[in-house]
Amino acid sequence: MGEFQVFDYMQKHEYEQVVYFYDKSTGLKGITAIHNTTLGPALGGTRIWNYANEEEALVDVLRLARGMTYKSAAAGLNLGGGKTVLIGDASKIKSEAYFRAFGRFVQSLNGRYITAEDVNTSTRDMGYIAMETKHVVGLEGKSGNPSPVTAMGVFHAVKAGLQYKFGDADIADHTFAVQGAGQTGYFLINYLVEAGAKKVYFTEISPRHIERMKQEHPEVEYVKPEDIFGLDVDVLSPCALGGALNDTTIPQIHAPVVCGSANNVLLDEDKHGAMLKDRGIIYCPDFVANAGGIINVYHELQGYDRDRAMADTKKIYDRMLEILAIADDQNITSQQAAKVFAKQRIQSVHDVRSNYIPR
Ligand code: NAD
Repeated sequence: MGEFQVFDYMQKHEYEQVVYFYDKSTGLKGITAIHNTTLGPALGGTRIWNYANEEEALVDVLRLARGMTYKSAAAGLNLGGGKTVLIGDASKIKSEAYFRAFGRFVQSLNGRYITAEDVNTSTRDMGYIAMETKHVVGLEGKSGNPSPVTAMGVFHAVKAGLQYKFGDADIADHTFAVQGAGQTGYFLINYLVEAGAKKVYFTEISPRHIERMKQEHPEVEYVKPEDIFGLDVDVLSPCALGGALNDTTIPQIHAPVVCGSANNVLLDEDKHGAMLKDRGIIYCPDFVANAGGIINVYHELQGYDRDRAMADTKKIYDRMLEILAIADDQNITSQQAAKVFAKQRIQSVHDVRSNYIPR
């Protein structure tokens, strides 16, 4: 394989900026990628990962930053897309000084990039970053745990999928299978039960999470992980790991609607999006369905109000219906339609800003 050509890749996918930074006192090494800031500052979490090599870190941060552009645009937020990866072993490198050093680099971008939590970073770490920059969200005592809001967004997306498929969004008329009862799956199941779902099945691999569900909702039926895809239900909701929809699982699916919280749930976006479409399955694009978390954190920038964050999250319902309709009209996958929808919004805002207004 040839050497990765950064500028070719930036040009092809229209990235604005890629920043490498290093701090000698703490050994901090990282990359921030800013994909697009047409709608507003690039917001995206900071991930710490022990990448095998620098190229792997670069490819990951570029891919994740671009995903954030589409996610925020489709969510109707005035945010662009960005992301940071910090290279190293999270169990060894984290300290106050390490995050403060990082906070200073975030500050040096002068608000073009706002950071937040991601894999291997916590609200406490964000607190250290906040000592050096105001361009950080997800702080303790502010927007709090995003998972209940993410799950609420998925709940509205599920209703949109049902409306689109059956013309009936009433949860009480339908049956569900949820893969993963962790942070988001747990809350989703709670909302489904509260709304009177006809039947809910779930699967898990964590004994603690299985036990919690059995204690709190004995009526929610446990099935083995390998049995979740083939259940005869109306909605399959993948809320565990990315790549859950693939060559092996898609042929097993009986549910006419697939909608969950898991990010990058299609192992291969184009191929597996098309497989679902060919099978006539309504697939609610992951980054639209699971946008509640970013909507929640966005509200922190405006002075946090949980009710307003929840009200904005509810808008996922209408947005999802619009995207599913675009997919049908243009005969493209719903994942592609979601990108068309996001790009249209970016383009339209870009266009209205073409005139000069003195401030
Ligand atoms: P989590 O780790 O709390 O929950 C995932 C659960 O899935 C775990 O309990 C795990 O035991 C279980 N699991 C893993 N593999 C499984 C398998 N094969 N079969 C059954 N269960 C399995 O994570 P989460 O925060 O709920 O996130 C779930 C997905 O949603 C992730 O892809 C995440 O990126 C995405 N997401 C989460 C949020 C959020 O606010 N938490 C926001 C946007 C997207």
